[in-house]
Amino acid sequence: MTCREFAEFIADYLAGELSDAQIAVFERHMALCSDCVNYLTTYRQTVEIEQQLFARAEQEVPPTIPEDLITAIIDARRRQAE
Ligand SMILES: [Zn+2]
Repeated sequence: MTCREFAEFIADYLAGELSDAQIAVFERHMALCSDCVNYLTTYRQTVEIEQQLFARAEQEVPPTIPEDLITAIIDARRRQAE
């Protein structure tokens, strides 16, 4: 599995839609590639923030997303695209 393939699998992985064999390949890549572990962590945080924003949208003023997190996400996505 390449880092690009890893990035494409992340959404399905977090949604629980990968087969056992795909999960095994996915997790093997994570064991070997710290960049992708960092990317997955950032991705998961982004999803959680988006869910919080969505959940709070009708109740409170949405929290501000830290600028450095946005920058980190953009950088990670750009790195995966190369
Ligand atoms: Zn990787």
